[in-house]
Amino acid sequence: MRHVSRRAAVVLLLAGLVLAGLLVFLIQYVFQAKSWAAFPGSPHVYRGNNLTAGTVTDRGGELLLRSDESGRSYAADETLRKATLHLLGDRYGYIPSNVLSDHAADMIGFDLVQGLYHSSSGTMQLSLSAAANTTAYQQLAGRHGCVAVYNYRTGEILCLVSAPSYDPDNMPDIEGDSSGQYDGVYVNRPVAGTYTPGSIFKLVTAAAALEQLDDLDTRTFYCGGVTEIGGKPVHCLNVHGSITFREALAKSCNVVFGQLAAELGADTINGYAAALGITQSLSFDGLRTAAGSMQADDSDPWELAWAGIGQSTDLINPVQYMTLMGAIANGGQAALPYLVAEIPGQYQAETTMLPAALSQQTADRLAELMINNVQTVYGSWNFPSVTVGAKSGTAEQDPGRLANATFAGFMQDENYPLAFVAVVEHAGSGSEVCIPIISAVLQVCIQQLAQP
Ligand SMILES: [Zn+2]
Repeated sequence: MRHVSRRAAVVLLLAGLVLAGLLVFLIQYVFQAKSWAAFPGSPHVYRGNNLTAGTVTDRGGELLLRSDESGRSYAADETLRKATLHLLGDRYGYIPSNVLSDHAADMIGFDLVQGLYHSSSGTMQLSLSAAANTTAYQQLAGRHGCVAVYNYRTGEILCLVSAPSYDPDNMPDIEGDSSGQYDGVYVNRPVAGTYTPGSIFKLVTAAAALEQLDDLDTRTFYCGGVTEIGGKPVHCLNVHGSITFREALAKSCNVVFGQLAAELGADTINGYAAALGITQSLSFDGLRTAAGSMQADDSDPWELAWAGIGQSTDLINPVQYMTLMGAIANGGQAALPYLVAEIPGQYQAETTMLPAALSQQTADRLAELMINNVQTVYGSWNFPSVTVGAKSGTAEQDPGRLANATFAGFMQDENYPLAFVAVVEHAGSGSEVCIPIISAVLQVCIQQLAQP
């Protein structure tokens, strides 16, 4: 008798375990079936690296990509195909489409009862403007680099271009090319790239100086074209003579910013670079930005001075730096960027604010200084009828080649709260090269935002 009841108990226990397992499965099924069905490589929804379902459009509904079992068809316009390649990916997976993979579950048309009922049902509407991307790609005019523009209040990216690119409908012989025109072509530069910032980094040193040096506004500096720091010369591009901090930022005086960096010290410069997000990466829509780096060191004051000027070993990521421009314009805090605005019935983008990078007071003072840069140096006429704040940079890279041109800033406007960054590799002066590009792209973005 005792033998039997023990057996019954074992059976009961086993039955209980099976039921519990079923329950766990059911709960997981309800919550995760969609992502199971869309797992990368699933032959039902993938062909090689690419999702075989769904349509991608720009913010206005312009077709960028349509996928089904027979493959991918891209936009009709060649320039638009090139200008969006790094976001949509190619047919062969040389450039992956992380944005699509990240939202695969919402794109494949899956429900719990019917399973995979329709393989091309999802329409992904990006926040991106096809016109802004095309304009940016054209403005880069065959040079390598990137342009990014986003709304720092909502997070919507309007422009995100990486060059060089290629036409996915007419794939060139990249491996066989020795001209250098396709160097790094598979890299989505604004997201995965890092660059020596050049003088746009003076904004980080400026933020530290504004908060740490009480007498900054009453000081007068002197630039004789060169100063000695740590026993070695730090050269300025000009002889600025007697100069205030405000003028030193506008004229991008290396002597003043080298001296400020040396005075502030490596810990302070490194600390501000970290607090302002330079060394962090951002994640959104399947994209993860490369982290920049800042390793100023007190043991070599000359290197420290150049670090504060943006030359030494400093590295920034363009998209991250764009969010810092947004934070400066927006009282210290900007939205996390996003690219996917909506997948009707499945997904709706929400605004996520990044942690505050700056105090409101410091952000407002930097914004005012950057607007002064445009008004006194870059020329307000380049940005008709809007208030723009900016900083240019010219990052010396390899001796014998032209410098990388950099330019970053924002529009301070209730209707057009846009932050931007542009990098053009081996192109020369940051302001000369980048202002026409940014000016043209911002005009298109303004038109886009003005549309109902
Ligand atoms: Zn100077």
